[in-house]
Amino acid sequence: MPTSNSKTDQHKAGVLYVVATPIGNLADISQRAVQVLSSVDVVAAEDTRHSRVLFSHFGISTPMVCINEQNESAKIPALLSRLANGENVALISDAGTPLVSDPGFLLVRAARDAGVQVSPVPGACAMIAALSVAGLPTDRFVFEGFLPARAAARRKALTRLLGETRTIIMYESVHRIENSLADMAQVLGAERKAVVARELTKKFETVVHGRLAELAQMLSQDPASLKGEFVVIIEGSDGLRDSLADASKLLLALLEELPAAQAARVAAKITGVSRKTLYQMAVDAAR
Ligand code: SAM
Repeated sequence: MPTSNSKTDQHKAGVLYVVATPIGNLADISQRAVQVLSSVDVVAAEDTRHSRVLFSHFGISTPMVCINEQNESAKIPALLSRLANGENVALISDAGTPLVSDPGFLLVRAARDAGVQVSPVPGACAMIAALSVAGLPTDRFVFEGFLPARAAARRKALTRLLGETRTIIMYESVHRIENSLADMAQVLGAERKAVVARELTKKFETVVHGRLAELAQMLSQDPASLKGEFVVIIEGSDGLRDSLADASKLLLALLEELPAAQAARVAAKITGVSRKTLYQMAVDAAR
């Protein structure tokens, strides 16, 4: 718990608390988050007007300063000096966990570099909430944040993920979800399993499972399903399945020019798939 300054700890530096807030349902705030937000000296909030709704709901009257993507660097010196003077500071973003596709990284790094204690008050995070209900492997996953807004850059980013074998988590906005899903299906494969989690913890919460192409089509045919906030989770690439698919395409092309044994030998050299497997594929293809 934060403590206010007393004569005995006047020279003790304060603590920077990184506090998660709800991603929709206000009841998801933790008791400790309310305690910390109520008792620190100042709250650094992404948007003070937005957070005032949360504060008035929980009767919190702590003063706020605004810290956002545009002014974060400029605000750091004043916050560090307050921390050095023994004041406790809490960092919050508009929703969920600060620093996760939200401001705060520069402040946390600067505080750590200055030897300030940085302490988490954990809670909601949209990507973890979505992953917990997706039904896709959770033992290894990768968070990609938001894809680039421009189509060419987005497809390039997706192409880089083609061989990613871990479950892939992405955030998407209402403006781009339709185009992004279409690009995901085109680049990562129409048949890749995925989950679209929309408006989690809110009135219109929906979690839809399917193959990328069918999800893209389903959403584009239902305008209501394109509204709100989205997390998209995609199954990782099955390395073996994908390399066999590539090898079989190459083999079929080679079989047009070469006998089976030779085609299998060349395809094995290029793809690394075993010559025996490819020869069997070539024999099957000739039947
Ligand atoms: N810091 C936040 C967190 O911990 O999840 C994320 C902030 S980021 C600016 C906002 C994005 O998170 C949205 O565009 C959406 O992709 C995702 N998101 C936030 N709340 C969500 C919700 N209730 N349901 C689905 N996605 C959500």
